[in-house]
Amino acid sequence: NQFELWYQPKYTAGDHSLTGFEALLRWHHPERGMLLPAEFLSALEDTGLIIPVGKWVIQQACLQLHQWKLQGNTEWTLAVNLSPAQFEQHDIIDVVCNALAQYQLSPACLTLELTESTALKNLKRSIEILNAFSALGITVSIDDFGTGYSCLSYLKQLAVDKLKIDQSFIRDMVEDSEDAAIVKAVIQLGHTLDLKVIAEGVEKEDQLALLRTYGVDEIQGYLISRPLTAQDFVACYENQK
Ligand code: C2E
Ligand code: MG
Ligand code: MG
Repeated sequence: NQFELWYQPKYTAGDHSLTGFEALLRWHHPERGMLLPAEFLSALEDTGLIIPVGKWVIQQACLQLHQWKLQGNTEWTLAVNLSPAQFEQHDIIDVVCNALAQYQLSPACLTLELTESTALKNLKRSIEILNAFSALGITVSIDDFGTGYSCLSYLKQLAVDKLKIDQSFIRDMVEDSEDAAIVKAVIQLGHTLDLKVIAEGVEKEDQLALLRTYGVDEIQGYLISRPLTAQDFVACYENQK
């Protein structure tokens, strides 16, 4: 019981309306304090413990969606990160469906984030799994887009709804015209393929301004909010109203 989920809000780039959250795992270590995934995720992956922990994440995310629904926030969506080992599990569709069913949630409120390398490890299988998620109405987003494979043909083969531009491109985009060109091109590519494009790691107003001119759909980053506990977010949100 030392794991927690924190939630980082996502907003539309245009009018700054809240669209939902990304669930981010935290380990509340009794001696070492709050640990970030960088400090323990690879150990979970290497030991296979990411399977039960990842299941707990899905379960906990659905419980949180249920609680938001009870509080009247029926439109809020939640994105969950899937690790490669988790995506490979033969019962991953059942795990997700059972958690949704347990809390009587619409599949449309859940987004699954996977990286290009996870999606491309076994393309044939990914096509089947993502088609199944898509048929259920679950949103699939490619995380850290631009840092994985250069071969883009998979985008037309996989039932993907969103591209999430990696924060490494956003970081210097205002100063570095090459990063800016990549960001602009990814947004255009996404839109041409009928995908929504989200920018992560937005920290500054001038990044947001540029992203807006490029037509990005959604933004996530410290500029608007750091990840928070669900309780802290509701307190902040009520204050802003
Ligand atoms: P990610 O999915 O790309 O998540 C975004 C990361 O960027 C998060 O780090 C978030 O706190 C951070 N971030 C958000 N806005 C900003 C910003 O404006 N500036 C900067 N510098 N960083 C920002 P976090 O929470 O440390 O998570 C790191 C990675 O760990 C995640 O990257 C994801 O790949 C993985 N992860 C997190 N939670 C889970 C989980 O439940 N399951 C699995 N399998 N992986 C997870
Ligand atoms: Mg993510
Ligand atoms: Mg990312």
